[in-house]
Formats: sequence, C-alpha cells, structure tokens
Amino acid sequence: MIHADLIIEGAVELLTLRGNSARPRRGEEMRELGIIRQGALAARRGKIVWVGPTADLLTSVRPMAFSKLIDAYGKTVMPGLVDPHTHLVFAGSRENEFAMRIQGKTYQEIAAAGGGINATVAATRKVSKAELKVEARKALDRMLALGTTTVEAKSGYGLELETELKMLEVIRDLNEEGPMTVIPTFMGAHEIPPEFRQNPEAYVDLVISRMIPEVAARKLARFCDVFCEAGVFSVEQSERIFRAAASVGLEPRVHADELTELGGAAMAARMKARTADHLLFASDDGIRQMAAAGVIAVLLPGTAYFLHMQRYARARDMIAAGIPVALATDFNPGSCMTESLALILNLACTQMRMLPAEAIVGATINAAWAIGEENCAGSLDVGKQADVLILDAPNHEHLCYHFGVNLVETVVKNGKVVVESGQCLH
Ligand SMILES: [Zn+2]
Repeated sequence: MIHADLIIEGAVELLTLRGNSARPRRGEEMRELGIIRQGALAARRGKIVWVGPTADLLTSVRPMAFSKLIDAYGKTVMPGLVDPHTHLVFAGSRENEFAMRIQGKTYQEIAAAGGGINATVAATRKVSKAELKVEARKALDRMLALGTTTVEAKSGYGLELETELKMLEVIRDLNEEGPMTVIPTFMGAHEIPPEFRQNPEAYVDLVISRMIPEVAARKLARFCDVFCEAGVFSVEQSERIFRAAASVGLEPRVHADELTELGGAAMAARMKARTADHLLFASDDGIRQMAAAGVIAVLLPGTAYFLHMQRYARARDMIAAGIPVALATDFNPGSCMTESLALILNLACTQMRMLPAEAIVGATINAAWAIGEENCAGSLDVGKQADVLILDAPNHEHLCYHFGVNLVETVVKNGKVVVESGQCLH
C-alpha cells in the first residue's frame, strides 16, 4: 500500500506524458500523451507517488490523516505547464509601441521615438529591486492561474553589471519564495547598450570578462542566452560569449534566426546549445544541423503574431527533421505581452499546424527538457514534483481549441493546491 496526502481521482483523461526519459520527444513521439482514461494520481510530501486508473486506486493507495481528495470527474488532468522562455523581470510597459505598430511604424521609427528595448532598459536600470519584484510577482501569479507551474526567466534589461545582477537576484528571490519554480538565465547580450553603440566589441568584452564570471561566481544563472541577430550580436560574437559561458558552467541557449537568416540555428548546433529559440528564418541546413546535434527548438508564435510578422517558424519541417520542439510565451513588454501558454498552444496549432497533442508535449515535457528540469517537471511520473492541473474540459484538445479563456480550474504545485476555481490562493 502506498500512503498519500493528496489524491486526484476520476479524470476523464489523465495525461501522464510518460515515455522515454533519456531524451526529449521528437517525431511521432510528440503525439503521445500517455493518456489514462478515468485516471487518478496520488502524491505525498510534494512528490507523485502513484498514477493509474481510478478503479485501482482503492487497492493501491491509502490516504493519510488530513489528506486532500480532489474529485476530477468529467475533467482533464495533466502536468503543470512549463514556460521555457520569458523575460519576466522588467520595469514599465510599451503599449505606445503597440499602437504605433498598428499605424505601420517601423522598428527604427519606434526606436527613434524613444521606444524599443532601450526604453525598458532605461526603466529597469532606474527602479529598485523591490519594485521589480512586485511587478514580476504579479505576472507569476497570472501565469500560475493560467496553469504554468515552472518558468524560465532571463536577465537582459540591464546591459550593465549592476542591473543584470539586480534582475538575477529578483529571479532568485522569486524562486525561493515560491510557489512557482523560476529557472534563471543570464542574458547580458540581449542588446548593445546605447553607451556602447559606437563600440560593440567593447561591450562583448565586458560581457565576457566582467559579467559572466560574476554571474557564475554568485551562482545566479543556469543558462547563458544571446540575441544572435543582424545589428545585435554576430554569429562570431555569440560563439565567443558562449565559449566563455560554457567554461564557467553556464549552458548556451540562443535567440536565433528570428528576424533574418544569420546562421544562428547552425551555430547553436556547433555550440551544443540546449536550445535555439524563435527560428522564423532558420535555413534547411540549420534545421538539419540542429536535428543532428539534438538541439531543442523553442518556438514562440506569440511573438510573430504580436509583431505582425506574417510568418511563423516551420514547426512541421522541424518535427519531420527530428528536432524536439518546445513552446514558450516569450513574455516581455515589447514583442509579446502575454502570460498565457494556452494562447500560445492555440497559435501553434492554427499558425504552425502543430496538432494539439504535439503542442501539449511542447509546453510540458519538451519544455522541461529545454530548461534542464526534465527530472522534476513536465510529466506525471512517480518521483517527480506533484505539479498538476485540473482543466474544466472533457479532453486535452480543448486546451488548444477553446481559446481566449482560462480552462484551468485547479493548480497543484509541489503537492499543494495553489489555484482553486481559477483564483490564486496565496
Ligand atoms: Zn526572448
């Protein structure tokens, strides 16, 4: 008999996402959700201890004193969503640019009017750590209510050591306070700051010689990300930054081939990056090389949508090539102001022709792989964190198909109910 302090029973579909635990899902595996019909789950002290049919619950699991029993009859149960690419921490907002873009203004015109990423950099440099944290916490609560239980967050609105550290400390504090798991990425190479515009090489040197060693020494990040793009960081500069990062244990991830075909996808493969993200302009060769090197593609269709790109990453070609695909919001004030992964799943289906099952794999187990959390999150496996969603939906397709609403009724994080009837409890 297995003892449990939390039991969820009667799910019309319980998506385990179980499968090969040695690598992320690719190809046909991306359609496999490991569904148990009339499924149940038991947890103890925050970890999953049993998963199976509700009919077997009584003979397998014994509820402990004060255990919680949740009735999921008629509902869909699945792992908490994992958002593997966000710019969670920032000051201010940029709704003025949203309107300018609608009026046909270009990126250059918006930047000339004082907008663009530099507006967020200026605002973020000015505010205190406490102020940054208040806004980020609000976003995390919205994410939690929308079913995200693990999120990656990047620095990159400081572009100077002090503010980059301030952002990473906010990320660390948010993670420590819980309930959301927040995985930190250093992204000092998000943009060339205005004071280095005339001498970008000097900024690359600063990132390599000052920022990366300091971030690593303070253990403030797990990954290092670079915006490899025309007019930002070249392929050669990105490689130099990644070599420095890897030498102190920061694993590479890269914003690659988002706006132009620069060769970021192939570079990600050469650098053995964990992920290459965006990839709207990834070449056939880049896709082949990513597949061969096992680089995960993190696709962000919300950004293409929000920026009126009229173009999306070639998810079907990537899946056919054998690349594991993950999905993320890219939550940030300039190019994708949403906390909703469910909306991203809808866009992945309608705009990139991913099947609902593939999109769900992309925002659970493959997303967990994208941020190195594959042993803790992304599937309902015995021994993993009890991060569980109960959707007011008769099957998993509804999460992608019924869009613009929140179907998440209950969120369990580390075995505790943190969202009930769609409301955060803390
Ligand atoms: Zn990004």
